[in-house]
Amino acid sequence: MALIAILPGDGIGPEVTAEAQRVLESLGLDLVFEEALVGGAAYHATGHPLPAATLDLAKRADAILFGAVGDPTCDALDRHLRPEQAILAARKELTLFANLRPAKLFAGLEEASALRPEVARAIDLLIVRELNGDVYFGEKGMRITPAGLRQGYDVMSYDESEVRRIAIAGFEAARRRKGRLCSVDKANVLETSQLWRDVVIETAVDYPDVVLTHLYVDNAAMQLVRDPGQFDVIVTGNLFGDILSDQASMCVGSIGLLPSASLDAAGKGLYEPIHGSAPDIAGQGKANPCAAILSAAMLLRHSLGLPEAADRIEAAVAAALGAGHRTADLGGSCSTQAMGDAVLAAL
Ligand code: NAD
Repeated sequence: MALIAILPGDGIGPEVTAEAQRVLESLGLDLVFEEALVGGAAYHATGHPLPAATLDLAKRADAILFGAVGDPTCDALDRHLRPEQAILAARKELTLFANLRPAKLFAGLEEASALRPEVARAIDLLIVRELNGDVYFGEKGMRITPAGLRQGYDVMSYDESEVRRIAIAGFEAARRRKGRLCSVDKANVLETSQLWRDVVIETAVDYPDVVLTHLYVDNAAMQLVRDPGQFDVIVTGNLFGDILSDQASMCVGSIGLLPSASLDAAGKGLYEPIHGSAPDIAGQGKANPCAAILSAAMLLRHSLGLPEAADRIEAAVAAALGAGHRTADLGGSCSTQAMGDAVLAAL
């Protein structure tokens, strides 16, 4: 039996998470679900976006299915009380350092991509982004220079153990896929990136079956729109991964299609769509639940060791989309629930 923490959150989070949970329940697996408040919903009920009871459930669970956090009524709160702090704190508390973001073009959705159909059709890649370090977590601040000018600074750094553990996650992912890993850095300019490249090359010794290449991040951004079909797995740091994964999402169509996994060293994970709480469409039954449903598939694959069940869900989403079922973001008129029904029917 596996315990799944359900943290629906705010806005469209509960709407899409409900569909993902329905799909998980339909598989007849030995799963137990326990739900808790997070984000703005938790703040309004308890005064904190990540209450102790929610964090405790997240720690006890075998895996976490997360919706989205973000609530415009909380925008004026102190930063530590804002809904978005819940996801940042959960990633840190649970040491979820490896963020897996697959991007694949579903057949029939070529017209939704920002790229030409023949370029978009070849996309089937995975970005492995480091999540706990880099310039986001280094020393930062504002100071006054001797000349009296305001100066902002954020220190970029990684130690070798941080690079090694994400490199291993990248190599392992490549081994599970087509065996090709592209490490993205800026080693021609940055010392942090030189260490990154050195450690990735050292780690490669344990993965002779994986073909390793390197790209500077500026070239990688260009290649991602020129010929995205060349990529299998991309491993990169927090800052570069943040930017490249958003770029990748528009290459395959809607943000409502892309799932993600954030994993610790033991494979425990938090699974969530890459989109936010979408307050502009919340409560209207318009949200595309596919990203949440595909996140549930990733949960089965990465935390519960059930790749066949994950394959079934992914095939069902592809079949539902292939049969023409579309939510509004893809130009269709299906409601969130009708899209969930179509996936369940395909299962
Ligand atoms: P967003 O991803 O919520 O929405 C961007 C646009 O995409 C909106 O027009 C929205 O309607 C649309 N969209 C998003 N998901 C969709 C779906 N499943 N189906 C159809 N359309 C969809 O980003 P935003 O508007 O910049 O942010 C809204 C809130 O979400 C903010 O509070 C932000 O901080 C938060 N946010 C949270 C997370 C997270 O929980 N991990 C991630 C990103 C943003």
